[in-house]
Amino acid sequence: MSTIFSKIAAGEIPSYRVAADDRHYAFLDINPVVRGHVLVIPRKEEDYIFNLDEADYTALNLFARRVAKAVEKAIPCKRVAVAVMGMEVPHVHIHLMPINAEGDIRFDRKLSFSPDEMQAIAAAIAKEFDAQAD
Ligand code: AMP
Repeated sequence: MSTIFSKIAAGEIPSYRVAADDRHYAFLDINPVVRGHVLVIPRKEEDYIFNLDEADYTALNLFARRVAKAVEKAIPCKRVAVAVMGMEVPHVHIHLMPINAEGDIRFDRKLSFSPDEMQAIAAAIAKEFDAQAD
């Protein structure tokens, strides 16, 4: 069985990609809570983050930290907030959300950006991520 997020990481379903390596993939949440809301996933399928083994859990969080550094450069904010829920999609994903105040995060209030805006946001984060590798 292949999850929707596995298909996204494999490029079989389109996404607004912001970063990737051989074990991880990061893309914009399609129903963002804030501008620049990113999901970071392992390519390997696992439903629950705390069932990852130590090496995979550590690698995922280190990759998410690199993505968060790119997000905070691309999207002006006070902090990049982190959340893990997994109530909707049974494939581990870390939410990264640039915020300026606690009240910025409300999962019952989704924003909407045009495809062009989503592409521009993803490109801005990807540019900062790619710059880190230099
Ligand atoms: P949760 O599993 O509760 O952490 O929430 C799943 C998140 O995945 C939600 O914020 C959705 O908006 C997001 N999501 C679901 N399908 C897609 C998709 N095809 N592309 C991007 N984000 C998605």
